[in-house]
Amino acid sequence: MAFSSPVNGQDSNEAASKTALTIGILADDKPYSFFEERTPAGFSVDILREIAANSGLTFEFRAGTWPEIYAAFMRGELDAIDGISYRSERAEEILFTDPYHIRQTFLMQDSAHPVGQVKTLGDLKSLKVGVVKNIYYRGLLEESGVDLNTYDSIASMVRALAFGWVDVIIGPQLSLEYQATHAGFRFLEIAGPAPLGKLAEEDFRIGVRKDLPDLFQKIQQGLNAIPDDQRADLLERWQEFGGASLTETKSFTPSTRQSRFLKELGPVRVGVMRDYSPFSFRDAGKLQGLTVDVLDRLADLTGLQVIPVGGQWSDLLPMLEDGEIDVLANMSKNPERLSFTRFTEPYYTIPNVAFTKDKSLQFTSLKSLKGLSVALGSDIYYEDPVTRELGAGARVFTSQEAMFEALADDRVDVVLAALPNGNFWVRELGIPGVHIAGELALEGQPSGEDLRFGVRSTLAPLADILDQALAAISPTEMNTIENRWLGAGSTLKLRADEKIRFSPAEEAWLDDQNHDISYCIDNNWLPLEGVDASGNHTGLSAEVIRLFQQRGDIHFSHVATTSWPESLEAVKSGACDMLAMAMKTPERTNYLNFTDPYLQVPNIILGRIEAPFIENVGDLRDKKVAIVKDYAFSELLENRYPGLKLVEVTNETEGLRMLQDGQIEGYVTTLATASYYMQQLGLADVKVIGRIPADWSLSIATINDEPILLGIMQKLVNSLTPSERHNLQSYWRNIRIEQSVDYSLVWQLLAVVALITAMLVYWNRKLGRLNRQLETANESLARLSVTDDLTQLGNRIYFDREFRKSFQWCQRHGTGFATAMVDADLFKNINDTHGHEAGDLCLQSLANTMRAHFRRETDRLARFGGEEFVIFTSYEARQDIIQRLDSFRKAVAEKTIVFSGSEIQLTISIGLATGIPGPEDSPAQFLRLADQALYAAKRNGRNRLEARAAKN
Ligand code: GH3
Ligand code: MG
Ligand code: MG
Repeated sequence: MAFSSPVNGQDSNEAASKTALTIGILADDKPYSFFEERTPAGFSVDILREIAANSGLTFEFRAGTWPEIYAAFMRGELDAIDGISYRSERAEEILFTDPYHIRQTFLMQDSAHPVGQVKTLGDLKSLKVGVVKNIYYRGLLEESGVDLNTYDSIASMVRALAFGWVDVIIGPQLSLEYQATHAGFRFLEIAGPAPLGKLAEEDFRIGVRKDLPDLFQKIQQGLNAIPDDQRADLLERWQEFGGASLTETKSFTPSTRQSRFLKELGPVRVGVMRDYSPFSFRDAGKLQGLTVDVLDRLADLTGLQVIPVGGQWSDLLPMLEDGEIDVLANMSKNPERLSFTRFTEPYYTIPNVAFTKDKSLQFTSLKSLKGLSVALGSDIYYEDPVTRELGAGARVFTSQEAMFEALADDRVDVVLAALPNGNFWVRELGIPGVHIAGELALEGQPSGEDLRFGVRSTLAPLADILDQALAAISPTEMNTIENRWLGAGSTLKLRADEKIRFSPAEEAWLDDQNHDISYCIDNNWLPLEGVDASGNHTGLSAEVIRLFQQRGDIHFSHVATTSWPESLEAVKSGACDMLAMAMKTPERTNYLNFTDPYLQVPNIILGRIEAPFIENVGDLRDKKVAIVKDYAFSELLENRYPGLKLVEVTNETEGLRMLQDGQIEGYVTTLATASYYMQQLGLADVKVIGRIPADWSLSIATINDEPILLGIMQKLVNSLTPSERHNLQSYWRNIRIEQSVDYSLVWQLLAVVALITAMLVYWNRKLGRLNRQLETANESLARLSVTDDLTQLGNRIYFDREFRKSFQWCQRHGTGFATAMVDADLFKNINDTHGHEAGDLCLQSLANTMRAHFRRETDRLARFGGEEFVIFTSYEARQDIIQRLDSFRKAVAEKTIVFSGSEIQLTISIGLATGIPGPEDSPAQFLRLADQALYAAKRNGRNRLEARAAKN
């Protein structure tokens, strides 16, 4: 916006020109004054408009940079200037109104990585600090030796903070909050005032030329007339809601036509991703998240009945194409999808970024990722450009969690994901050292992912209705929803490297001990704790001790023992001061004190591979169950389940060996250590048969007569930050049971069981999470049983899954796809004449004949239901598949089935649909066509084949 061109204010018409005055405003100072389209907007502009309305003046806004408008004002070319600070030397030339705003300079931080107390410039020294270049207090910061990064604008500075490139940024509170809200970085928060003394405050006034005292009077009066609460309202509106009015709510009123449409529509099926936290995810068996809240509001506003359909993106997108769902949430607009989707306006935009552990990686364009292994979500809107650019380096995943697990295990170098989702998984999985290398920007596309609702194109009016309803969600509501899911969650109280403050009594005690505390461990409990080849303490508790050592100014020394019972004796006799990792039991509290637990590990029962699963521990009544001698649970199990025949072993290895040899029927242990030693010993014929409903809660244990030591250790335990606790959890979790290469069903089941248990364990803190995992686990189990009991053909689940897969395969390869519906003829008669059992036998016989005739690699057989079957396969020549089906039909008719003396003849009718699936075709079309053909076969006399070609 060039300064010289006058910009129209709201009401500069000729009639008012008598009182019109020119005022200089900044052209680019969001959210104080800036331009939307060609109209001035912002907090200052709103204040000026209030003044105009109160005083009957008309402002003609002139915009420019500060040097431009200030010079013009001083030259007398402008009557007034906005946002000027009072200075005594300026007062000789300028009339100043009272301030209408005090601009405060604040610090902003990432709520997940708070910077702690910043009271002086010195407190900023250990931090990376972002400022806008040429800011007036930059010199002061530099003189104080603060490590500065400078940015062109507040917007890019806010981004740098969001991506973790700086620890804290400094700027005007209102501008920081506006930009953070605008970019969707709800996790950024104001950390407090900047330690800049007087420089931290700027008074915003209106300056008027000295020779216009009447005008000045009117402006000051107009300003006085603005009520305080209105000014506060305006401020909040810009701070929190990007300037949207809080009071003027648009309501949703459907037209009569729309009402009728909604009524006739009935319930709509809305696809919602299950693993797109915090936008949509499953927790406590329920779909939740920002998107789900928005969807609920839309349902309230429109009266629409919504049936949520949870799934993974790779399943949901084809479901929308096939019309199995009507709406898909969290969809981004792209040209390919326009052929089958009507999009609403976006309700949220999120930046997509590159997560990596490689601190040196700079992500400026896709080219900078060449040669790296890059994870991305399947069917995401940038899949094509990324795979085109990166070739084999692009690794497509179907779940968000899997991508981040791959990053945790170093199986990929980079994960491309939406910023809040990625942050969620990094935190959830406790992946250490992750950094954001930059933002994904595709050529010719706006950056960020636009979240919209995609509506099946045949339901176009619904898209308009949803759009109107979205617009009717008030800014306050939207803000509440965004804050709930994206806001600063729990903030950490303590920085990881902060030293602990001990009381004088504690200090005195430590001095007495020369700041040396000795401890004992269990040598045979890896990965939780153990000793390495040279006898040094290693494992998870070694990690904990190391963290304590860093922040406590205490040296911890390991006192070696040979077994766990010996360690217990050592602490009892005073040979060491504490145990690094122990569980509280009633008996132990006689001589030990325990801190709060710092780790929870699931408690499981292992059994031999053929052993049945147990629902509860009581099922093992009278069975031999082993546990390591003196382990906490031997005492607890004894008291709680007196029916068990407890056997004590000396260590994990011995327990596992006895189990393998059949000397015991169950072995109680932790999931962490069991998987470790099973791997070590190469044990495969052992599995998890149950879970004990009490986890191992592991604490530091100190001897009773040293209460001060307990206090010291409790302070250290308290100082573990949530992210450190997460890291500890992932420490043992990353030790995985090795995958077997045997692909038999038993092995698949075993792997699933191991997986379920591993998953059960992951989030054992929250019951809701646990339930979600259980559900997923059950789903995977259900998915495993895809065979029909009677015929041993694929069942309906198998059909649903494989039918689409085969179809899509043929679609991609341009190959013929054949669907044959097979129905037994007059089957009721067979049941009526020979009985249901005979009927069953006929179905089995039919299945056997079918199997014998269709054994090619691409042939798929399923029992569709009752006495109906489906055969689907790919084909080269149509005549070939017709001939194969017909010889199958003849074979059925020629076979005689004998059931308790009587001979039964069975015939079948077949309806066949063939064709090369085009891009617009759906598997459902083939099924429908085959069904029509079957109907024709029945009508035309049964025991025959009718074929239909899909037109394409
Ligand atoms: P059509 O030639 O027209 O198909 O005659 P139909 O008698 O086969 O007709 P319909 O499809 O109406 O009847 C199917 C019968 O199959 C009904 C049901 O009793 C029987 N049936 C379905 N599933 C089973 C099964 O698992 N075992 C047995 N024994 N009978 C079944
Ligand atoms: Mg039938
Ligand atoms: Mg039938």
